[in-house]
Amino acid sequence: MNKQQTLIKNYRDKLLGLHLVTVAIVSFCELLAYLIFLWRGVYTLSFACDYLWLYVVLPIVLNFGAHIVARKIVKRDTESHEVKNAAVVYATLVTAVLVSVLHREFTVTACAFVFPMILSALFSDRKLLNRSLIVSVLCVVLTLAIRTLEQPIDLEYVITGLALFGFLAVSYLSGSIVIENSELNLFVIENQAMTNTRLRNKIKKDPMTNLYNHKMFFVELEAVIAECETSGKTFCLSMFDIDDFKKINDEHGHDGGDEALLALSKVIRRNCTNSDVPFRYGGEEFAILFKQKTKDEAYAVMEKILREFSSIRFKFIDRPLTFSCGIGVFEPGMTKEEMFDAADDGMYQAKHNGKNQIYMK
Ligand code: GH3
Ligand code: MG
Ligand code: MG
Repeated sequence: MNKQQTLIKNYRDKLLGLHLVTVAIVSFCELLAYLIFLWRGVYTLSFACDYLWLYVVLPIVLNFGAHIVARKIVKRDTESHEVKNAAVVYATLVTAVLVSVLHREFTVTACAFVFPMILSALFSDRKLLNRSLIVSVLCVVLTLAIRTLEQPIDLEYVITGLALFGFLAVSYLSGSIVIENSELNLFVIENQAMTNTRLRNKIKKDPMTNLYNHKMFFVELEAVIAECETSGKTFCLSMFDIDDFKKINDEHGHDGGDEALLALSKVIRRNCTNSDVPFRYGGEEFAILFKQKTKDEAYAVMEKILREFSSIRFKFIDRPLTFSCGIGVFEPGMTKEEMFDAADDGMYQAKHNGKNQIYMK
């Protein structure tokens, strides 16, 4: 279980603990009221017995039963967070319904239904909040119906009933606002996370070609060397530099040069697989880390890139362009500088041999 899951679990356990406290308070009050009435001799013996079962034993059994069921669901690893949250809210709804239906008091009913609504809001679950409202309204209607059968309705009763509906509506709207607020917080956090990712990518990438930059080149090279030192595997690195690029800038201006750089970066990206990492090392010099390719496979990819690049017909440049490339192959014990030199020396060898070619020892 990761830290976030542990925090959610603790949060839910605390709220479920509050239900246990509520159940204990309700049970204690019911029992106390019963004992006081018994002591004062308010009940006949048979009524006292009925009262004990209906108002003390039954709610205690149902309330604790609901709590135990909720606790079992919450403990199950296979259930989702939504189901576990719902189990806690439903346990509090059972308590609210029992209090409301058995006492048929508007004030008590209003208080009892605030708890599941608050919980639904704390779990940021609109569905649970709506269900809590529906159950509370049904209970109020039921209370109203039972009370109407028991005694005639007076004006005070109607006004208290209206106040109860108002109170439930305010509780529901408050819960709704709490959920809206947590949705807003989530939105802000997600936006912040997206901005952070974008910024992190920005400092890793070259803005013109969107390839990894010079700084990332050594970070990645070091990481791949460490990986290969432990796994005993090898990898290849190619370094390549556009031939006579200065002339392009001189003859066609920077727009011509930029067009060539962008075109080459597109060809590179098109030919790289997920295990290849391309970089703009600097200026018109590029590199590719072939993490899982043999030297022959790396050579074939570079050949294809050179072929495709040299066949491009540019808008601002009146002739085909080429590059010179060196490929280095990693051997255990090599440092990142030695690996870089292996590829870089190869590139200069390719330049020296007449450009427009790939050199590999
Ligand atoms: P060689 O075949 O030996 O590589 O010759 P070259 O002309 O390519 O030599 P060099 O590497 O010295 O030239 C690189 C030029 O690339 C110099 C610089 O003005 C140009 N350059 C570097 N970065 C950029 C860029 O972002 N845009 C443009 N248009 N030119 C750039
Ligand atoms: Mg060059
Ligand atoms: Mg250069």
